[in-house]
Amino acid sequence: MTDRTPSAEAAGATAPSRTVLLRGGEVHSPADPFATAMVVERGHVAWVGSEGAADAFAQGVDEVVDLGGALVTPAFTDAHVHTTSTGLALTGLDLTGARSLSEALGLVRAYAARRPADRVLLGHGWDAARWPERRAPRRSELDEATGGRPLYLSRVDVHSAVVTTALLDLVPQVHPHGDDVPLTKDDHHAVRRAALAALTPAQRAEAQRAALDRAASLGIGSVHECGGPDISSAEDFAGLLALAAEHPGPRVHGYWADRDLALAKELGAVGAAGDLFVDGALGSHTACLHAPYADAPHTGTGYLDAAEVAEHVAACTGAGLQAGFHAIGDAAVAAVVEGVRAAAAKVGPDRIRAARHRVEHAEMMTPQTIAAFAELGLT
Ligand SMILES: [Zn+2]
Ligand SMILES: [Zn+2]
Repeated sequence: MTDRTPSAEAAGATAPSRTVLLRGGEVHSPADPFATAMVVERGHVAWVGSEGAADAFAQGVDEVVDLGGALVTPAFTDAHVHTTSTGLALTGLDLTGARSLSEALGLVRAYAARRPADRVLLGHGWDAARWPERRAPRRSELDEATGGRPLYLSRVDVHSAVVTTALLDLVPQVHPHGDDVPLTKDDHHAVRRAALAALTPAQRAEAQRAALDRAASLGIGSVHECGGPDISSAEDFAGLLALAAEHPGPRVHGYWADRDLALAKELGAVGAAGDLFVDGALGSHTACLHAPYADAPHTGTGYLDAAEVAEHVAACTGAGLQAGFHAIGDAAVAAVVEGVRAAAAKVGPDRIRAARHRVEHAEMMTPQTIAAFAELGLT
């Protein structure tokens, strides 16, 4: 453990050398199922036990924390995080509480004034259906409210957005149909990409810090960042790992979803894994299924087949990296299993199991694929 141990921080042990007694709670520990107290010393759990024994420690510690009956557990791990996007949702302008269009425009104006150094302003959560004006903000209104700066505001469902002229100027291929029509589909995606690309390093670091602080406040001691060329950027990923090494808070394990293993290693990833897409998602009918969708005349989309999975798994096993995939539909999960089995036949099942390769989501499992996950050591 390091001096960033979240349990120690939660106990107020900001100096790593401090010794802290926590008492009067429920301490979850297999070593002592009825423990109510614990001692943290130099970032380590030094003792767990009951109140009677805690009295003996109370004089010799730097701080005593009364837990007031709170439950103490080991810190959680969040195994699938997009840290920057999570942080941008926390640091961006939140319009979910705006009760009218004019109130929303007032919030945009105040936010723009509060953040003069931001190259692009980001916000979310507007919902014109709840406003008496019954319409989305017009581009001209947002241009005025921001003083002509780039602004991206996603609707509450995140499938459409309104933006300013200054942001559209960064995306010459998008020609909106008028002043008051929210962007959807391809135009929306292109504009969102441009908005994210326009973030300053300081904005990105602020978002990452906000996400990590939020995780720590929820008792999360470790996060698995799922980055990649289709998700974030090498700069974003490397920046996060550097920041996490400096910033007190959860440990960050980086997964880079790329078949370029040299780059994954160079970036400091523990795995060429995460959202390496074998298929899409159920909501957009792009998860890859064995049978057609009940509400669409096809079986979804496959981006990687079993042979490509096998090649990636074998290469990662050889390189000492975890391999991993985003697979949601039953056909996608089956392709992963077939590919990992083929890799096991090539490099040996023991090496495959020892590498602890992983699958994200795995939403449509069958008894066969569940058994195969156990057999191949997939998590
Ligand atoms: Zn995914
Ligand atoms: Zn993801």
